[in-house]
Amino acid sequence: MEIVVASGKGGTGKTFVASNLCVYLKRNLSEEVVAVDADVEAPDLLMALGGSTREVVREEFYGSYIPAIDMSICFNCGRCAEACEFDAIHMAPEGPVIDYSKCEGLGTCAVVCSVKAITLIEDKTGDIYASETPFGITVVTGDLELGKGNSGRLVYELKERAYRIASEKRVEFRVVDAAPGIGCPVVSSIAGSDLLITVVEPTPQSLKGSLRLLEVAETLGIKTVAIINKYNLNPGFTAEVEKKLGVEVLGYVPYDDAVVKAYTSAVPLLEYSPASKASEALVKCFDRFREGWFR
Ligand code: SF4
Ligand code: SF4
Repeated sequence: MEIVVASGKGGTGKTFVASNLCVYLKRNLSEEVVAVDADVEAPDLLMALGGSTREVVREEFYGSYIPAIDMSICFNCGRCAEACEFDAIHMAPEGPVIDYSKCEGLGTCAVVCSVKAITLIEDKTGDIYASETPFGITVVTGDLELGKGNSGRLVYELKERAYRIASEKRVEFRVVDAAPGIGCPVVSSIAGSDLLITVVEPTPQSLKGSLRLLEVAETLGIKTVAIINKYNLNPGFTAEVEKKLGVEVLGYVPYDDAVVKAYTSAVPLLEYSPASKASEALVKCFDRFREGWFR
């Protein structure tokens, strides 16, 4: 079963919920859990789960193509520079020069070159790695190199890798900590999942982000439930959030200093402070999910 934790806006407690859900599942329902950190531009799930005790996978990720020019064939006609819509090629006295920071890698230049001096080669855009953590959860994550695109495809690859690890080890649960927002990496995070948990704060911005996320989930046909985080910071608006979301709310988690202390100690709250108010509220949310899903 793949459960995605997402929010239409960053900073709502998505990683907090995802990391503690992993701990809960491991304690109550499964000997092992595989987690995916799909926030490839700022991954922090591994840290929230205590960091790596052993790296089990490290691979380079080639997510796009770039053109390479064979200068022994090129005869400086300039057609490639004229055809490039992104202004990524300029003609120098010694021949065409590519500005890779502007290049989109679709290969128009290669198509128009009459002597086939340009070929597209794979470009390394990041890394994929998987690590075991002190709490017995394997985390699959990736790092997108600065300025490189195609994070949606990287997320797809991370989920595939997690699926393979879970199948090999016969692990029932995979938890995906999605990227913030509703862009391409979020769509990749959600696609094919069994359940989406949206984490919402009682603020208009967070509600708006979650409503947009729910539209995406509905289009993809994915069942969605919600957890309202820090509900006591704006109790009046919490009722409105629940009404407007129109999905089952698993529960309400209060603001709690213990959450910050657990995060800075790199220990999931359920382990760091099981008797804290936020811990107890989270367990109630997860119990409700468990009862609803497995009844
Ligand atoms: S189109 Fe081909 S031959 Fe002409 S400048 Fe570009 S690489 Fe050289
Ligand atoms: S691949 Fe496209 S964007 Fe890149 S240099 Fe060639 S034509 Fe320009």
